[in-house]
Amino acid sequence: MNERVEILGVKVDAVTMTQAVESVEKLIVAKKNSLIATANAEMLLMSTHDGELKTILNAAALVVPDGAGTVWAAHHLGYDMPERVAGFDLVQELMKISPSKGYKFFLFGSAPGIADKAKAKAEELYPGIKIVGTRNGYFTADDEPEIIAQIKTSTPDVLLAALGVPKQEKWLYAHKQELGVPVSIGVGGTFDVMAGVVKRAPLWMQRAKLEWLYRAMLQPSRAGRLIALPKFVWKVINS
Ligand code: UDP
Repeated sequence: MNERVEILGVKVDAVTMTQAVESVEKLIVAKKNSLIATANAEMLLMSTHDGELKTILNAAALVVPDGAGTVWAAHHLGYDMPERVAGFDLVQELMKISPSKGYKFFLFGSAPGIADKAKAKAEELYPGIKIVGTRNGYFTADDEPEIIAQIKTSTPDVLLAALGVPKQEKWLYAHKQELGVPVSIGVGGTFDVMAGVVKRAPLWMQRAKLEWLYRAMLQPSRAGRLIALPKFVWKVINS
């Protein structure tokens, strides 16, 4: 069992990328419809006023520390948190080992065409990878039975859901029994980055813990979300 560190009432696993990948592989084998979340400052802050999200996160099989804010908070609270495990990077690591392990993926979410582009990119980067289906993330309640049936019949080992936070976590939690997928992960903007629609920050900015700033600069519509960071820091300091 990994050590879990409590940040604003959410238990986050203190894992390295290597340990996170090992945990996911065990969950694939266990076939228990496990949920995995990638917790950044925004998600942790949201969970302080969204009890449903908090419950889902605390019931998840693995919550990785996605984001410099999460790692900072753990350290501030006096815990060990070895490194940041970004959701995007975790997906790449799993995809990289999948041709030899035979893991099958389903890509669900993002605007029409994006998951297909992400699939094509994955097939180029990781020859032999099995992506057994894609579906965009814009749907009504009436479409849900068909989406669930599509995912179920393609029998993926890993379902990647990119519907944004907290929609993806709530959707996966609500349908996990019906879906019967060994591992489901909420992956936010991962397909957009893989499809080349959104760029990740340059490495120097990631290392300087400034990826959040880069994202806000690139997508000004997100700038309003920046307020989450000082709010998060304030809440952690006063928790
Ligand atoms: N999205 C979706 N369905 C929705 C709302 C959003 O598929 O109803 C997608 C959106 O197109 C984007 C992703 O969810 O690809 C959310 O990305 P973002 O970077 O905002 O993720 P977050 O920061 O919420 O993790």
